[in-house]
Amino acid sequence: MGTFRTLYATLPCSQCRKAIPTDIQFKTGNDGSEKYSEGEVISAKNWPDAAMEYEGLFDVACDKCFFEWRMTLILTEYEVLMELIREGRLTMRLKTTGETLTPERLPSFANDALRDIDQHSPTTVFLLHASEPSPIHRHGSALGKFELEFDGASRNFADQAFDDLVRDRTDLKMKEKGWSHGSDWMSKVIVYLDNHRRIRCRLN
Ligand SMILES: [Zn+2]
Repeated sequence: MGTFRTLYATLPCSQCRKAIPTDIQFKTGNDGSEKYSEGEVISAKNWPDAAMEYEGLFDVACDKCFFEWRMTLILTEYEVLMELIREGRLTMRLKTTGETLTPERLPSFANDALRDIDQHSPTTVFLLHASEPSPIHRHGSALGKFELEFDGASRNFADQAFDDLVRDRTDLKMKEKGWSHGSDWMSKVIVYLDNHRRIRCRLN
């Protein structure tokens, strides 16, 4: 369990449509880290039912678009935090000084976060909530310098209700800004065998 198969294929970047090499991860339920190239003939032993199709996941953007997407995503998350402060649902306090942040103070912290990213490689994922380069995730401690109060209770950034709200609003704003995949960086793709048992993929 926990293993998957990888298909190396070429798919269009969701943003600029440039064809990019990507690796698609998929599971058949009986996997041992097999790796395939698009068009490779797959044996019946490896894929008994040639009619079976599987859903895979891949990164939707080329490096250039991914970098822009990530920068925009972080700024957008801060915009959402500012909104929540304005709506009176969120209070952010600096742990060091106890200062309560006004929405106007937040952009300087957003800029700090963006500067941090600049120091890492464009393909390294580094998000608002992550304390160091890591697989993208929203729960981390980059914002650990703040104390949060959300809807009248003390919270942390991993709090489910808070996280869901920030993610949903960020997703919507990203789409308004023209990012087709919003705050999501993975997309689904179908992996299948053609009539000659050659492995292929197609977008949903
Ligand atoms: Zn692109």
